[in-house]
Amino acid sequence: MAGNSARERLYLFDTTLRDGAQTNGVDFTLADKIEIARMLDDLGIDYVEAGYPGANPTDTNFFSERRPMRARLTAFGMTRRPGRSASNDPGLVVLLEAEADAICFVAKSWDYHVRVALETTEDENLASIRDSVRAAKAKGREVLLDCEHFFDGYKAKPAYALACAKAAHEAGARWVVLCDTNGGTLPHEVERIVGEICKAIPGGAVGIHAHNDTEQAVANSFAAVRAGARQIQGTLNGLGERCGNANLVSIIPTLKLKPEYADKFDIGVTEDALGRLLRVSHRLDELLNRAPDRHAPYVGESAFATKAGIHASAIVKEPKTYEHVAPERVGNKRKLLVSDQSGRSNVLAELDRIGLSLDKDDVRVTRLLEEVKEREAVGYAYEAADASFELLARRMMGQVPHYFDVDKFDVNVEQRVNAKGERVTVSQAVVKLKVGDDELISVAEGIGPVNALDLALRKDLGKYQSFITGLELTDYRVRILNGGTQAVTRVLIESTDETGDHWRTVGVSANIIDASFQALMDSIVYKLMKSGAPA
Ligand SMILES: [Zn+2]
Repeated sequence: MAGNSARERLYLFDTTLRDGAQTNGVDFTLADKIEIARMLDDLGIDYVEAGYPGANPTDTNFFSERRPMRARLTAFGMTRRPGRSASNDPGLVVLLEAEADAICFVAKSWDYHVRVALETTEDENLASIRDSVRAAKAKGREVLLDCEHFFDGYKAKPAYALACAKAAHEAGARWVVLCDTNGGTLPHEVERIVGEICKAIPGGAVGIHAHNDTEQAVANSFAAVRAGARQIQGTLNGLGERCGNANLVSIIPTLKLKPEYADKFDIGVTEDALGRLLRVSHRLDELLNRAPDRHAPYVGESAFATKAGIHASAIVKEPKTYEHVAPERVGNKRKLLVSDQSGRSNVLAELDRIGLSLDKDDVRVTRLLEEVKEREAVGYAYEAADASFELLARRMMGQVPHYFDVDKFDVNVEQRVNAKGERVTVSQAVVKLKVGDDELISVAEGIGPVNALDLALRKDLGKYQSFITGLELTDYRVRILNGGTQAVTRVLIESTDETGDHWRTVGVSANIIDASFQALMDSIVYKLMKSGAPA
C-alpha cells in the first residue's frame, strides 16, 4: 500500500455484521452478510467481524466455509465458561472450528460483572481469558479480546480491568480492545484511561470499541487514537443497538482528509476506495430498506448543500470558502439549493449541474428564476425535487419532448362489504391517455387512490412502455401547507429505476390526488427523457 512513509499504520475493524446486527429491526440474511463483507473488504477495512458462529444458523452457515478475502475475516464469541476447560466448552469448540482468520473473544473486565453476571471469581475470569486466547492461538488464529465494560470497570477497579487486558496480551492476543459497552464514557475520560493502559500495553496492540450513547462514539474513537490506541472498531452508518456504534463512514474520511490524522497514519482505505464511500453507505441503507440520512456527515445529501444566495455566489467562485473538504473526495457532490431565498448563482450552478450552461445574463435565467420564485410562493419546493426543477428548466429551453397527453382520469374509492363479510376499502383508477394517434385506456386497482392512479398511469404507455418498465416509486410524502385562506397539499415523490438513479418530483394542489398526479407525471416524463425516449 502506501510505500515508504513515516506514517504509522492504524487498523480498522468493522462489526456491522455482528454488533450492527443487534440493532432493532435489522435482520441480515446470509446473502446480505456475504455482500456486505465483500463491500467492506473492497473498501479496505482490515478486519471484518461477520458474526457469532453457533449463536444462530445464519452466522454458523457464514463460517461453515472459507470465504476468501484480503481483510481478516473475524468470528466473534465468548471466552471459555468458568469451571470448564477450553476443550470441554462446546461454544468455544464451535468458535475454534469456524472458518475465520481471526477470533474476537468478549470477556468481562469489570469486577462487578464478573461477580454478578458471571458468578465466578476474579482469578477464574483471568484464567478463562488466558486459556481461550491460547486455545485460539494454538488453532493458528489471530486473536483479539474485547474487554467488555472496560471503562466502567476501570473506574470501579482499575487494577482488575488492567489485569484482564494484560492477561490477554501476555497470553498472545494480537489486540486488546477496550470497549465502552454502555456508551456513557466521555472523550476526555477515554483519552486519560487509554493513555494509562498504553503505559502497560503497547498502543500498537490496543483497540477502541465505542458506542454512541452520548453522541460521542466517533470523538471517543479519536480520543483513544490520540492516547495511543491503533485499532478502531465501528460499523457502517453507525449501525448498532441503542444509539449505535462508532460510525466508520464518518471516521474514515476524517482519517484520510484531516492533516492531523492523515499526516500521521496510514489506513487500508485507498484514495479510490474513499471516493466510493457514499455508495457503500447508501448500499447498506438499501439492503436495510432505509432512507439514507440526508444530514449524515460527509455522505449525506445535505452535507455539502448551501441555500442562501450570497453563500452560493461565493461557493461558485471558491468552493473552499464554505466547504471543509471537497465533496468529490468521498463520492458526494456540491449541491446548491434552488429555493425562494436563492439568487441567480444558485440557479446557474444547478443548471450547470444538469448540463445546461447558460450565460449569467441570459434572459432565460431571469425567467427561470422568476418562475421558481412564483411557484415556490404557492408551495412547490424545488430544492427537494431535483427532477421537477430540471423539467421546469428544460421545458423553458424547449428541450422536453411532448410524449403523451392524459385526456382524463377518474379515481374512485369505495368502501363495501366483501364476499367474506368483511368491510374493505377498494381504490380504482381509470386513465385515458393519448400517445401519438393511439388512444389508450387503463384501469388499475391499488391499495389507495394514489397507488391506483400510479398503476393505471404506468400500465400502458403504448410505444413508450418499454422505457418505463424499470421505474419504481420508492417514497411518497405528503405535507399540508397552510398558506393564506386555504390549505394546499404538497406531494413529494421519490423514484428510482434499473440504473440505480434516484430522483424526486413535486406536485402542489388543494387536492391531494391532483398534487400526486403532477408529481407522478413529472417522474414518468423525467424517466422518459433520461432514457432518451424519442419524441
Ligand atoms: Zn458493542
